Amino acid sequence: MQESSGANAGELCLALDFGGTKLAAGLVAWRSGQLLRQARCATSCDRGARGQIADMLELVQSLRLSPAEWAAVTAAGVSFGGPVDAEAGMVLQSHHVVGWEGLPLGAELQRHLRRPVLMENDANAVALGEYRYGAGRGVPDLVYLTISTGIGGGIILGGRLWRGSHGLAGEVGHMAVRPGGPLCTCGNRGCLEALAAGPAIARRAREALAAGGGGSRTAPTALALAGGDAAAIAAEHVFRAARQGDAAAAQVVAAACEDLGLGIAMLASIVDPARVILGGGVAKAGEQLLVPVRAAFARHAPPNLAGRVAIVQAAALDEGGLLGAAALVAQAKP
Ligand SMILES: [Zn+2]
Repeated sequence: MQESSGANAGELCLALDFGGTKLAAGLVAWRSGQLLRQARCATSCDRGARGQIADMLELVQSLRLSPAEWAAVTAAGVSFGGPVDAEAGMVLQSHHVVGWEGLPLGAELQRHLRRPVLMENDANAVALGEYRYGAGRGVPDLVYLTISTGIGGGIILGGRLWRGSHGLAGEVGHMAVRPGGPLCTCGNRGCLEALAAGPAIARRAREALAAGGGGSRTAPTALALAGGDAAAIAAEHVFRAARQGDAAAAQVVAAACEDLGLGIAMLASIVDPARVILGGGVAKAGEQLLVPVRAAFARHAPPNLAGRVAIVQAAALDEGGLLGAAALVAQAKP
């Protein structure tokens, strides 16, 4: 079979990514996962759900599809940053923007685009995208974890997305890996998200600074890299300070990686995946994250799994949502 390079009949899709901080639209050859064009804008939270749909349709316009390309678009895929009812094409909740609850986004988009619309929550969509086009190609059993402002995930079993009975399978961020640990946004304590998501890593660094950690003569602290403003410390500053030799930052990174490795070991003992794929902003740290996470996994995993699960970085760190949306179309084989 030839790889599609453009507007072959019925080979293209629109990929739409409704994220917490940005909207993105792309034109994708869904067979190969080739992203032909894309457009992005910031999410305008104050305009509500309707405003976001209008912004997204403008992004689609800005892709300037030729009549031949439009004719080749078989469907649109949607990656949405919050829980959705995928079968009904309905948004259940958005953590960032008001007016989404119960909104039939699938039907609305279908009316404007005159194409079938397939949707999933973002972590599930990206898991499918990595399976079809990225770091999970040819691996029918895998777990995808996104580590960014929160921790989410998607599970592929037997080459299919495993949604669970309430569409909540793979919500790995709220596994209580340290019972009694720090308070999580969900109200429970010790969730993986409260220990190792970007804001949790920043919080741990602030706690270490308050306790008098860091500040060697040779290495800048996360605080210095954040311009001296403790509130501005982000996970990225902590990783960078650790790389440059700050001991307190290195300890924070090590502790977060330990918790991630433990969480992945818990998951692996249930799912037995061949591969675990890490994406999201924090995963951009690459080997600095992967090496200690693999070591922690090896310590905590059941002995018969410890050396047999590959933990790797996602292939599409910035375009994951768009490729995930395209994978929904590919999966449906329109
Ligand atoms: Zn939680």
